[in-house]
Amino acid sequence: MSKIVAGRCDRYDAVELRRFFDRAFTEVGLVFDHQRVLLKPNLLSGKSPQKAVNTHPQLVSVLAEIFLEKSCEVYVGDSPGYESTEKALRNSGIMDAVRELGLKVASFDKRVIRKSHGISPYREFLLGEDPASFDLIVNLPKLKTHAMMGLTLGVKNMFGFVPRFEKAKWHLKAGRDPLLFAGILIDIYRLVNPSITILDGVLAMDGDGPSSGRPRDLGVIALSRDALTLDAFIEGCLALPSPLPLLRLAREKDLVGQAEVVDLGMPPIRDFLLPKTMDVIGNLPGAVHHTMKRLFVRKPKCMQDLCKRCGICARVCPASAIRTDEEFPVFDYKKCIRCYCCQELCPESAIRV
Ligand code: SF4
Ligand code: SF4
Repeated sequence: MSKIVAGRCDRYDAVELRRFFDRAFTEVGLVFDHQRVLLKPNLLSGKSPQKAVNTHPQLVSVLAEIFLEKSCEVYVGDSPGYESTEKALRNSGIMDAVRELGLKVASFDKRVIRKSHGISPYREFLLGEDPASFDLIVNLPKLKTHAMMGLTLGVKNMFGFVPRFEKAKWHLKAGRDPLLFAGILIDIYRLVNPSITILDGVLAMDGDGPSSGRPRDLGVIALSRDALTLDAFIEGCLALPSPLPLLRLAREKDLVGQAEVVDLGMPPIRDFLLPKTMDVIGNLPGAVHHTMKRLFVRKPKCMQDLCKRCGICARVCPASAIRTDEEFPVFDYKKCIRCYCCQELCPESAIRV
């Protein structure tokens, strides 16, 4: 049985966060001393903390102090969508903690191949850092919505181990099948095998996430040594109309264990909006899903009044479905696989679905 500790924290108050972690680490039996620790936030892009796109810098800072007090060597990093790790760390505010506390940056620019015997059809994954080079990997997802997968939580945050533009390859392989993509995400999560997952839902995001949704002051902080069980717990707290594709697959494969929840005053989550893209056919597999999606699922569109013509959408599109030889991006919906990477990574929130 996996233990989940869930609590409340208002506005990233450092004292409240510290009190929660001291109690919660004891509850889940996390011990550390003189270890090499990687803090892996969700660092999608260099957006300010108020936008709720990335794990909050204050949470990273408080955790780093806890590990430094125990003489650990602390690294921080992720592989953002299109920027360098350093640039995204700077613009997200996390680099301030790196400088003040003397942390090290993990750039996720290595090319480490790891074999998998997981649930997806794929047997090899290229990673930007070698998980085995750290004694402790601390997975720090943000509680926010995701156009393709409904939510991005603990398991999906490990997709950040895949180097920047390599991510497109996995989107292309999964095509329009969220269950195939879910299998890939679960395999990567199990390869990295983080020691603990700490969910930042203090300032969360609902609506059309993961980069342009509505920031929500939920005050939620929760952790577990098992991200799948933690994700299932959060899914239950949100009372979603249908299961998330990732958790549906994980349950089918018997990967979601029983949970013992230590409730340290976690607030209820009310009126949580899913992305408009989450439709009733979201969980259908294979060819049926492909056809239904092409017919019914929302298409990405460019809001020309917001577009700065930077071309990032075309660079990150796995299906080469966006042309930039006209004044504004042009979409080829026959090629488009509805992965919504363009919406996720447009720095101007100019792509709507
Ligand atoms: S839609 Fe966004 S990413 Fe694409 S060119 Fe315009 S501003 Fe850049
Ligand atoms: S156009 Fe957007 S949604 Fe369609 S495949 Fe490209 S990145 Fe994905």
